[in-house]
Amino acid sequence: MNVFDRMREVLGELGQPKFKVIEVTDLPARLDKRNIYIVGEGSYRWFLALLCPCGCQEVIYLNVRHDSHPYWNIKAHAGTVSIEPSIWRQKGCGSHFFIRKGRVQWCQPFQKNK
Ligand SMILES: [Zn+2]
Repeated sequence: MNVFDRMREVLGELGQPKFKVIEVTDLPARLDKRNIYIVGEGSYRWFLALLCPCGCQEVIYLNVRHDSHPYWNIKAHAGTVSIEPSIWRQKGCGSHFFIRKGRVQWCQPFQKNK
């Protein structure tokens, strides 16, 4: 690997694309993998939807209404969001990750050697 490849790699990590947050009343038929959709109406937010960042093309739906469980908290930052707690798909790809300031932070699988 030459120095330029290394630089690209480092910059790639830093410049990892951020999710864009879009508030909608209806989900579009096809989701854009760069967007997090917050679905609601007026001041109500019902759920959010995003394509699984692992690339499996599955849509992840997260309830954000505090009156039903489980629910996820959306923390707004300038133009982006953090989502708590972590998102863990029990089916399919089993992805487990955080969204922090619009970026995906993967949780390491337990079986990984220390
Ligand atoms: Zn996935």
